[in-house]
Amino acid sequence: MQIFDGHNDALSRLWGTTTDPVGEFAKPVGHVNTPHARAGGLSGGFFALYSSAEKRAFDFTIFDGGGVALPLAPAMPAAQALEPVIAQAGIAQQLHAAGQIEICTSTAQLGRAFVSDPIACVLHLEGADCIGPEMWELDALHAMGLRSLGPVWSRPNIFGEGVPFSHGTDGDTGGGLTSAGQALVAKCKAMGVMVDTSHLTLKGFWDVAEEDLPLVATHSNACAVALNARNLTDDQLRAIRQTGGMVGLNFASLYLSDDGWTQGQATLTDCLRQLDHLIAVAGEDHVGLGSDFDGAPMPQGMSHAGNLPALLDAMRAAGYGEALIAKLAHENWLDFLSRQLNP
Ligand code: ZN
Repeated sequence: MQIFDGHNDALSRLWGTTTDPVGEFAKPVGHVNTPHARAGGLSGGFFALYSSAEKRAFDFTIFDGGGVALPLAPAMPAAQALEPVIAQAGIAQQLHAAGQIEICTSTAQLGRAFVSDPIACVLHLEGADCIGPEMWELDALHAMGLRSLGPVWSRPNIFGEGVPFSHGTDGDTGGGLTSAGQALVAKCKAMGVMVDTSHLTLKGFWDVAEEDLPLVATHSNACAVALNARNLTDDQLRAIRQTGGMVGLNFASLYLSDDGWTQGQATLTDCLRQLDHLIAVAGEDHVGLGSDFDGAPMPQGMSHAGNLPALLDAMRAAGYGEALIAKLAHENWLDFLSRQLNP
């Protein structure tokens, strides 16, 4: 069973850890790389460009004690935010040129790449901190293949405000989109760039809904199962269903379950509890995967993309049929993107 995944941070891992991204991506290092993708059936996914505050891999050990609520990160000046994003976009171009990924900008290209050797890549910007009020940077990134954008990561910027890493609350933690944020969403809509609401506050989510777009949360779970600011309320999940959008199951232990938050590691059983709820409320045509590989601490039994078949086996053990598993594994994301991208 092939997988199309809603979110990984492999590009920021490579930017933070190596001077030879093409060589490094060929090694079984980190969560997403060619050997682990091959072993696990990872044939495509959203690859995030992310404005890291420091040049290093994401530090999972900060969550080792479990239950660590982090305050909202401070805003990052646009010039500082742009440097890692441009570098990571360049790394994506190198991986593309080396035949390790294929940056896809059309439905036809995505369909071909998904069944061929390079990993099909939809380039995503996680937090538009690098984009100024005139939004010229978005035109440049679009020309480099960008087709998905989240207005905010978990920090404030000129477009809106993200949620802090905090448990025991839903996403109603701060303000919504600014007028610049509304203009950004409108420009994305006009350019055919998908708008991702993961990391946005609850208010920001409903502001995106005002723009008459399919509502998408590429890597978020359900508050009803684990009440966390990064997760979605049932009202949000129903809106995703009603607008023909998508939610991707986030494997990050912190958002899967209360135990995952306090202990820093969840289980595949927690993944299934989340999936059951996401399907019950958002509907089986609007749920996919959104691993957060290379950006979050993974649950037991999911050390890297090579372990993806273990999640499919857990679905089978829970009584999911093969047709439903295919929808969750790749069909729903590919169907959605076929409506989103140019033909
Ligand atoms: Zn994220």
